[in-house]
Amino acid sequence: MALALQCKFFGHIISVDKALAVRDGATPAHRHALLFECDKCGKPVRPRAAGDKHVAHFVHIRQNPECCYAEPTREY
Ligand SMILES: [Zn+2]
Repeated sequence: MALALQCKFFGHIISVDKALAVRDGATPAHRHALLFECDKCGKPVRPRAAGDKHVAHFVHIRQNPECCYAEPTREY
C-alpha cells in the first residue's frame, strides 16, 4: 500500500507540497480549473494536507481501485 506523494501537473511531476502551494495560491475560481493527475493511472487527484494520522498526499477524486496508490480509510 503506497500513498501518492507526487502527481502530474501540466505534464510535470510535482510533489504534494508543491500542489498544495499551487492550490492555496489560486483563487477559488482558478482552483476549480487546476488539474492534478495521478502519475500512475492518469486519473484526476487532489492534494490533501497532512493531518493527525497521515502525511500530505494525493487522493483520487473518484476512487480508483485499480490504481496501485491506495488511500487510507475514509475519515472525512
Ligand atoms: Zn491513480
